Amino acid sequence: MVEPPRGGRGLKGCVLYIPRMSEEGPRLMAAAFRSLGVDARVSPPSTARTRELAARHLSGEECYPAHVTLGNFLRVLEDPGCEPERTCFFLPNAEGPCRFGQYAHLFRKVFRDLGYPEVRVISPSSRYGYEELRELDAAFERRAWRALVTADILRKLRLMHRPYELEPGAVDRVVDAGLADCERVLADPDLSRGPLMRGLVAALTGVRDRLRALPRDPGERPLIGVVGEIFCRLNEFSNEYVVRRIERLGGEAWLSDITEWVHYTRVMRRELLAEQGRRLSGQALKMLLAERVQTADEGVLLAPFREDFAGREEPHDMRRFLDAADPYLPFRGCLGEMTLSVAKVLWLHELGIDGIVDVSPFTCMNGIISEAVYPRMSRDLGGLPIRSLYFDGTETDLDRDLGMFLEMARAQRRRRAAAASA
Ligand code: SF4
Repeated sequence: MVEPPRGGRGLKGCVLYIPRMSEEGPRLMAAAFRSLGVDARVSPPSTARTRELAARHLSGEECYPAHVTLGNFLRVLEDPGCEPERTCFFLPNAEGPCRFGQYAHLFRKVFRDLGYPEVRVISPSSRYGYEELRELDAAFERRAWRALVTADILRKLRLMHRPYELEPGAVDRVVDAGLADCERVLADPDLSRGPLMRGLVAALTGVRDRLRALPRDPGERPLIGVVGEIFCRLNEFSNEYVVRRIERLGGEAWLSDITEWVHYTRVMRRELLAEQGRRLSGQALKMLLAERVQTADEGVLLAPFREDFAGREEPHDMRRFLDAADPYLPFRGCLGEMTLSVAKVLWLHELGIDGIVDVSPFTCMNGIISEAVYPRMSRDLGGLPIRSLYFDGTETDLDRDLGMFLEMARAQRRRRAAAASA
């Protein structure tokens, strides 16, 4: 843990900025913070200025998510309306080979060097399953979890419908309107559990029904699983809009979601308690109860989408999901997203995926290790096309690479169809 939050009241009066990792999650997290009376906002969308500002203060050894995040925080600080003494940045960190845990220290140093020692950085840790969030307010952790589950559902609906829309932009308009409805629900401090859940379910099913009613292209597309480093795969600016490119080139993308990471950190937290001989401790019991409650909330939010997500289910037993990857990367030895990516390849292959794209920042250990394992996995999985892509903000001919990859995915789809009808 880098700096514990000073409680919900400690944040009141602050303007809290959440990094724009994806379109849906940060907006809903900010809404959940607003229910505590915190003026929470999402950091501005990335532009060329983001990279320019970050490059002035970073050495080049930091990973790309650090550049994008710092650059956008610096854009907040250079805004003439910004009040540094009220400004607070939210920067969750991660365990394993990830450097992100260092970035809260680094960012504070950059802010101090720039003459903003009063700017705060809040950095809950994956090592503790982000349980510091509970310290903000007893109910906040639960509301934040609902925000993440809701964000994942909205993103999945967007991904499943957008490639087939006949009117460009129609799906994004429907999903964005639903996102705004969910923000209103999550930001409302007066809603207790029941009304809040009913409000979210109503907003989500409204999106579902409006999407179902849109005219749809009946054509078939290869389905591409997008795995890899969480920030880079979810942040469109960082991954050069890889999902939209896959769609434009004739594919459909299925992105690994955010809640997958939270489920993973819980497994790892349990492992840590077991290692410390605290498997039956009060701490373990508290965790178990919190997990039960959150799993129940997730079930309520997902229930109306059983039909929509049939064949696209997420693993519900995270331990078994990780154990399946053991022949390639044992999760107790290889901490971090590399294990999740490898396990997800196996999972998606079972669901009948046509190809996998692994999205990682340049020099990220997670992507490098996964890439080393993929050739063997591809052989074991009947030639499943798997392609690692690295991003650092420099230009590459991504459309050419993806175009070739999609041809391989189409061939894989034909092979599977032929094998099924043989
Ligand atoms: S996973 Fe890799 S790219 Fe992502 S923050 Fe960690 S070190 Fe950087």
